[in-house]
Parts: sequence; structure tokens; C-alpha cells
Amino acid sequence: MELPIKFHFQNLFSKLLLPVLFAVALAGCSTTFVGGARGTGYFDTVVIDAGHGGFDRGAKPVKGFYEKDLTLDTARRVARKLRENGLHVVETRTGDYFVTLDQRVTASNRLSGSIFVSIHYNWDKRKKASGIETFYLNPNSSRLASRIQSEMVATYHGQDRGIKSRKLYVLRNNKRPAVLCELGFISNSAENGKVQSSQTRQKLAENIAKAILAERASFLSQTANDR
Ligand SMILES: [Zn+2]
Repeated sequence: MELPIKFHFQNLFSKLLLPVLFAVALAGCSTTFVGGARGTGYFDTVVIDAGHGGFDRGAKPVKGFYEKDLTLDTARRVARKLRENGLHVVETRTGDYFVTLDQRVTASNRLSGSIFVSIHYNWDKRKKASGIETFYLNPNSSRLASRIQSEMVATYHGQDRGIKSRKLYVLRNNKRPAVLCELGFISNSAENGKVQSSQTRQKLAENIAKAILAERASFLSQTANDR
């Protein structure tokens, strides 16, 4: 008796349940990994995340402002530039206070047509470590990561450490295209000297905004071609 029942169940599973499961999985993909209802990559909102804040000071510089102050200043400059260009911007913090990683991720997860860009400065006990790197996790974030990385590197000709896939909390738990930018080592005397200057941070911010706008423009032209 067992065999026929099992056979029937397998038959039912492959004929009926499998297609249903497949459809559910596809529907799940479209809500989990695309920028919004209008298709892959679409976004009209940018969540700008200034790393650290409040009691979490982030990395200690050789000299000057702590990481939390540099990230906030840079993030605010990126936000301003994007707003000037007509994008909707959500900032995870606008002052010196603590924000949990979960609150940061929630900011983009609740907005379907958004991308998430986190701003950080780097630190290493090897004082010679230098350069710029960008982390992402999902493949749908890699193009944005590449664009931002090459624009940042051009800012002060820092060493190009490349883009890297990394399971960081704000990337791992993000439903939107998400990147985390490390804009330079404040443990490196020469590089810290550069990023402690507001002029460098302004240029970094303008270039990050430029990359985000280019990513949006390429999506818009791509959908225009599809029509
Ligand atoms: Zn950091």
C-alpha cells in the first residue's frame, strides 16, 4: 500500500506543487532583490547611511576628527548633492547620535524603490595600509559598487583596493541594492591628512553622488530602449 500512495504523492508534487512552489519563489525574488515595482535596478530613493554615531565613535584617526564625524559630514554632502539633482534621499542619521544596524537597514527595507549606500572610513593596525574599497553582497549591487569605487578612487588617486563581496550586517539584511564604501584609512598618516580636509570630503561626496546618478541614468536609458 505504501508504494502507490508514495507514487501518487510524488506525481502530485511534480505536476501541481512544484510549479506552484516555483511561482512563489519567483514572486519572492521580485520583491526581495529588485529595486522596485518597475523592474530590476529602478530606484528613486537613496538611503544614505553615515556609519557609527553617538557613543560609537568608529575608528580613531592619527589626528583630527573621529570616523563618526567624517562619515556624517561626508554623508550629508552626498545627500545634498543628490537632492540638488532631484533624487529623494533618506538619511539614517543627521547628527551625532547612535543608530542601531537594524534601524539603518529598516530605512531601505521599507522603501521598495530604494538603494542603500553606507559611508565609512577605514582603519588598520598596519599604519601603511591605504586605499579605497567598496563592499557589496548581492550580485545586483555589484554594478553600483563598481561605479562608486572608480569615482572615489579618482578623487584623490587613492590605491584601488577594489570591490569585494562581504557578509556585513547592513548588506546581509538588506532587501535593496546595497553597498558599503570605505573612503580611506584614517590610521594612515598621509591618507588621514587628505580625508580630514573638507575639500577632499566634498569631492568624495560629489563623486559618490555622480556614480549614483550615473547608475540611475543607465537604468532609465535601459528601460527606454526596452520599450
Ligand atoms: Zn566604520
